[in-house]
Amino acid sequence: MTADKHEVLKQFFGYSSFRNGQEEIVDTLLSGRDVLGIMPTGAGKSLCYQIPAIMMNGITIVISPLISLMKDQVNALVQQGVSAAYLNRSLTDAQYNKALYNAGMGKYKIIYVAPERLESGSFLRFAMSVEISLIAVDEAHCVSQWGQDFRPSYLNINTFISKLNHRPVIGAFTATATEEVKNDIVRLLNLYDPYKVTTGFDRPNLFFSVLRPQNKSAKLLELIKERKNQSGIVYCSTRKNVEKVCDLLNKNGISATRYHAGLEDEERVKNQDDFVYDRKNVMVATNAFGMGIDKSDVRFVIHYNMPKNIESYYQEAGRAGRDGENADCILLYSKADVSTCKYFIDNIEDNNDLSQEQKEFFRQREEERLKQMVFYCTTSDCLRGYMLRYFGDEYKDSCGKCSNCLTEYETVDVTVEAQKILSCIIRTGQHYGTKMITDILRGVSSDIIKKAKLDRQSTFGIMKNVKATEIKYIIEKLEEQEYIISVGAGKPILHVTEMSYPVLRGNANVKIRKAKQLKTKVQKTEIHSVDPELFDALKVVRTYFAKKRGVPAFVIFSDAALADMCRVMPTTEAEFLSVSGVGANKLEKYGEAFMRVIKKYKPDKNGKQPFAIEAENLNGFEYSDAPIPISEITARINALSKGNNRKKLKATDITEWLLENDYLRIAEINGQKYKLPTPQGKKLGLSTETRVNKEGLWYKIVLYNQAAQEFIVKNAIPKIRVYY
Ligand code: ADP
Ligand code: MG
Repeated sequence: MTADKHEVLKQFFGYSSFRNGQEEIVDTLLSGRDVLGIMPTGAGKSLCYQIPAIMMNGITIVISPLISLMKDQVNALVQQGVSAAYLNRSLTDAQYNKALYNAGMGKYKIIYVAPERLESGSFLRFAMSVEISLIAVDEAHCVSQWGQDFRPSYLNINTFISKLNHRPVIGAFTATATEEVKNDIVRLLNLYDPYKVTTGFDRPNLFFSVLRPQNKSAKLLELIKERKNQSGIVYCSTRKNVEKVCDLLNKNGISATRYHAGLEDEERVKNQDDFVYDRKNVMVATNAFGMGIDKSDVRFVIHYNMPKNIESYYQEAGRAGRDGENADCILLYSKADVSTCKYFIDNIEDNNDLSQEQKEFFRQREEERLKQMVFYCTTSDCLRGYMLRYFGDEYKDSCGKCSNCLTEYETVDVTVEAQKILSCIIRTGQHYGTKMITDILRGVSSDIIKKAKLDRQSTFGIMKNVKATEIKYIIEKLEEQEYIISVGAGKPILHVTEMSYPVLRGNANVKIRKAKQLKTKVQKTEIHSVDPELFDALKVVRTYFAKKRGVPAFVIFSDAALADMCRVMPTTEAEFLSVSGVGANKLEKYGEAFMRVIKKYKPDKNGKQPFAIEAENLNGFEYSDAPIPISEITARINALSKGNNRKKLKATDITEWLLENDYLRIAEINGQKYKLPTPQGKKLGLSTETRVNKEGLWYKIVLYNQAAQEFIVKNAIPKIRVYY
């Protein structure tokens, strides 16, 4: 063991402090004691085993369930200067053997394997021939049949470990915290007196909101259009909805792709890659999508349909904002979603290993969970608090960062309305669902109502003047407060409970909380307090390197690192190294390129901001009929931006852009360097003239005709601050 853990944290990962839970886990593993780490998505579990791995003498084996995840993690490590590799079935035999050979030679500090590999003879031979210091089991809940992602091959981990010459220290990590799963992990992985760390479930950077739009498609489009160029996931409950929503987005000019279990493997992999590598902004998917995704810059997760329980919701929504920057989690609720979920529960795949009794137990448990999910959607209390308490965390009353905390509610007495609704349900024999009851109360004479003679009921039309949405809302609240229960799937039927009778007799009042503003406001989250132009400019540089190296953009730098660059505005190596997420390796590889862009945005010594001009002012540009040199174009633009106290535009700002975009090229004539038009430049309207200076020496000058001037004003200037 050499380096200090803080040094390793900074040098390789670029962070200057540990997050909650990380340091104690690192210390414990280094001391040789097993660890069970339970931390929510995005908390930074990887670092907990990667840092000990770097510091320990031998090799660390990381067992991870998903191939795509391994690739990204290894990519990220290599970018950070850690030698790592993965062994899984995405490699050809030759590649696999080579990697295994290298591993045997001690070339890698960290090796990722799929659990299935542990059974292979060649892998076992390798493992027995080297020193293994640490085994990290990622997504350890996969070992438990109680979890949602049970993987039988996780059960072989223990057998594998028992075959090794020395038992290495073991760290198991997951975001799932139910007792059954925790116990299974300790038991089935045979952890020795593990040190258990649970960090709490709060994700302070996530903004939660629930909306109940009349028209989900329109709302979804609006939400995504407000979040232009951001990466996001839209979850739907069924494959059909995925197809529908993905089409809708694409038809409306949003670059979206899709993922569900009904697609061929090949297409799923491709679509996932398109999303991870930012070729598509939005992923529309069923819950089949996600575990293999470590994309840290997902800025929003929208649920087009309500999931079946809070566990699923928190896991899916939690895929937003792993990098710690602000992100939005929005759920579009409608009552129809409840029926869909009920249908799924009643039709849970028949598992023949279960007795009738066990099946009934599962069904009831699922129904209870669904109820909690519906309450989340309909409560007017703090959403974050509701979920955290669900997971057993303590939480103060309101977070100030969810749609409920930002909506003003008032408490209203609806005893009279409740009496009307409850008696209507009773008088009609407790045979009908919300829609029918609402129609009867409002006096709608539809065919069904007339046929069933419901229009002769005493409650028919007694709420004629109340809007249907209002009645439905009150029914929902009555259900929440358990005056009503709805029974059955598909078209649930409303029944009244014991609690209703005092209300009907006038012995109890019913109060509900109602939003004062009808429209719940959803905050559009911005990466906080950074110059959006600089941020975008840095993104362009990041994309350039990501493409060049064939890795996802966030592997180069996370959004959080770019945001920190915007705040720090480093222009020296030492400053660049102080940015969160910049380690030695990244400084060396990328420092110069990013700083070059930052310099353009940095105010000068006198506090002058870099050149910028408003599009409106640019409209006043005076075009010259005759071709003019670049200095003249520059002067005319500067004349238009007079008085805005920014730096002036320089002629080289324009010519550099033209060089980058292949309108100019560098030519050497008689030892002199000139910028001359390329064929593309000539086509645009650039021409060359030879002139003679005072000393009688000739030189070449480029002239720009009117079309070229227009091109520069309309295309080059607006982009000049963001070129790379
Ligand atoms: P998890 O596996 O727990 O979901 P990850 O290990 O993927 O989370 O980490 C999520 C993000 O947090 C990554 O972008 C990672 O670089 C970042 N991160 C981890 N530890 C720190 C830290 N100490 N400071 C800042 N960022 C961190
Ligand atoms: Mg992880």
